[in-house]
Amino acid sequence: MPWLRVAIILTCLFLSSANAAEFSITPVKDNIFKFSNGTHHAVFVVTDEGIALTDPLSTEGAKWLKQALNERFDKPVRYVIYSHNHPDHVYGGEIFAEPGVTFVAHAWARDDLLATKADTQIPDLVFNDEMQLFLGDTQIVLRYHGPNNGKGSISINFPSQRVVHVVDWIVLGRMPYKNLPGYDIRGMINSTRDVLAMDFDLLVGGHGDIGDKNDVRFYLRYLEQLYAAVLDGMREGKNLKTLQQDIRLDAFRSLKMYEAWLPLNVEGVYNDLIDQSYLHLRPEVPVSER
Ligand SMILES: [Zn+2]
Repeated sequence: MPWLRVAIILTCLFLSSANAAEFSITPVKDNIFKFSNGTHHAVFVVTDEGIALTDPLSTEGAKWLKQALNERFDKPVRYVIYSHNHPDHVYGGEIFAEPGVTFVAHAWARDDLLATKADTQIPDLVFNDEMQLFLGDTQIVLRYHGPNNGKGSISINFPSQRVVHVVDWIVLGRMPYKNLPGYDIRGMINSTRDVLAMDFDLLVGGHGDIGDKNDVRFYLRYLEQLYAAVLDGMREGKNLKTLQQDIRLDAFRSLKMYEAWLPLNVEGVYNDLIDQSYLHLRPEVPVSER
């Protein structure tokens, strides 16, 4: 039945191209590469002493990456650095869990993964403010900037390559995620200002595009203007629906998902101002409804 053989071949071609599209490795700069699993990204650095990688992204992604690293670089993985505690970034760690591999995270990311019985490798090396790792000729600086998204979310900086990696709380070329679930808007602003004070040429996001300092400044301006617009509107007594209708930040309409997610971003800041700052309990702020 030749038609069956053709159908099987076509199916295999389709499946392999689907996988190839889902997982990929792209050079970033010098010995730093980006690993993508769909719209999620991580980075890794290849040195004479081995490989340090950030989030495994998923069990399937980690399996694909492990094989690709073996085939392309033939160096052992020595460090796996978790960006924060969320499963869509740190699941799949167990695929790299072998003797000689150290799992690193902020103390609060480890604490959360442990306490919530996360089904991934639990980190064995933690820090609070800053940690420096050295692998081969490469220095990696991990830094905590305060709360911004999830637990123990950090920046991962490669000073000699002038590349920094941040996941979720800085996204370039795209709007912040929907109604900002689990985000701390003031924390995002403060942490992004902190990152802008660092020395780097390229920022690789866990989502969105790779960009430079100007792209990060553009993103920060968006956050600041969004926050100010929602806060001012609430202090004038506008409810959420009115704010969603009124607020336009058209200087930022080049960001992907601008039309669809702007009302959701407004809702996220509105809820954050109630949850974190208790604006609804201020006698001078007539917040009528959530
Ligand atoms: Zn994410």
